[in-house]
Amino acid sequence: MPVQEKPVKDFKLNVPMADNLQKLPTYVFAELDEMKAKARARGAKLIDLGIGNPDVPTPEPIRKAIQEAAGKLENYHYPPFKGKQNFREAVSNWMKKRYGVEIDPETEVQALIGSKEGLGHLTFAYINPGDVSLVPAPYYPVHSRATWLAGGEVYHLPLTPENHFLPDLESIPADVLKKAKLLFLNFPNNPTAACADLDFYTKAVAFCKQHQIVLISDLAYSEICFDGYRPPSIFEVPGAKDVAIEFHSFSKSFSMAGCRIGFACGNAQIVKALYSRKTNLDYGVSSILQDGATFALEHGEAFLPEIIKTYQERRDVVVSGMNSLGWQITPPKATMYVWLPVPKRFADSKSWCQYLLDETGVVITPGVAFGTQGDRYFRISLVAPTEVLQEAIGRIRDKGIRFE
Ligand SMILES: *Cc1c(COP(=O)(O)O)cnc(C)c1O
Repeated sequence: MPVQEKPVKDFKLNVPMADNLQKLPTYVFAELDEMKAKARARGAKLIDLGIGNPDVPTPEPIRKAIQEAAGKLENYHYPPFKGKQNFREAVSNWMKKRYGVEIDPETEVQALIGSKEGLGHLTFAYINPGDVSLVPAPYYPVHSRATWLAGGEVYHLPLTPENHFLPDLESIPADVLKKAKLLFLNFPNNPTAACADLDFYTKAVAFCKQHQIVLISDLAYSEICFDGYRPPSIFEVPGAKDVAIEFHSFSKSFSMAGCRIGFACGNAQIVKALYSRKTNLDYGVSSILQDGATFALEHGEAFLPEIIKTYQERRDVVVSGMNSLGWQITPPKATMYVWLPVPKRFADSKSWCQYLLDETGVVITPGVAFGTQGDRYFRISLVAPTEVLQEAIGRIRDKGIRFE
């Protein structure tokens, strides 16, 4: 057929997106955006505690380091695929100082455009159609969605109060285990704020070795921890480096979410799989931001107490406020989230979320945003100053809304 040169009138594009992308369950955060837009259009004054976007200012010295790095001509070339040497060395030193673990900056570190990017690419590096990922649920969306996009299947391990929000690895059927390639762990956990100890990690490492499964530890909340609690790294378990890779993020720790930088470290073979995937698709993270993140790792101890104090005060306001309204939650030891049960009279987390929004203008995340396993719960993000959190609690109290 000859190419038509005249523009076709009323042309309508009819090229469907890939099946795997179309088949994904709806992204609840997009629905939440619509709910908020409608409420705003009605003139509601919203207090948005639904998003996980850190509002604590990035420490000034880090911003200065980034400005300085932006003045260096060498930072305008393509960076090395695995990350700049100074960055990888800073990662290695930080892992040593913070956790007492040895990480080789040459073969065991990969710089990332945020840890979400790395979690996605690593999944594609291992999952063939039909392969299985083991994912505790409720889950941070990319932990399941990347596997679905790659054509794999997800086996969800429920996190419940009965199991202290830790997955029961013994409960996985043998036929699932045979197809399982990846286990995702994320402690301190988003959204439940649950924490894992070295006992649990020791079992998880042994389990993954026994069944030839790559263990992925997402440690995005390593620094947002309270009351003296310090979340461990998976690599504190002897021999963990035989099967594990760990993802670290600057977004929460140093309030650098807009900078888009993180890193993965651990088993050289797994790091190489991630590297191979990335070399085909991207050129890595800006050299300027790698210098900024290097500065954050080298001087972070000076800024972290202030960031931690801010979140801890907010946590205390939300926990005591909600408990005064009939909830009975223990203060989370880490993360910038509080995970609470939905009052029994509501059918599910979305109807509760809509009710709270309509009555009070307070926006929370319905637990179903993290999978159906979360549908009797909701998440409050500690992303507003204490006065604003007080006001949110006050609005709920004024409407006589209680947990019952
Ligand atoms: C925020 C978050 C991330 C993403 O971090 P980036 O480094 O900003 O991509 C990864 N995992 C969990 C569990 C998170 O909550």
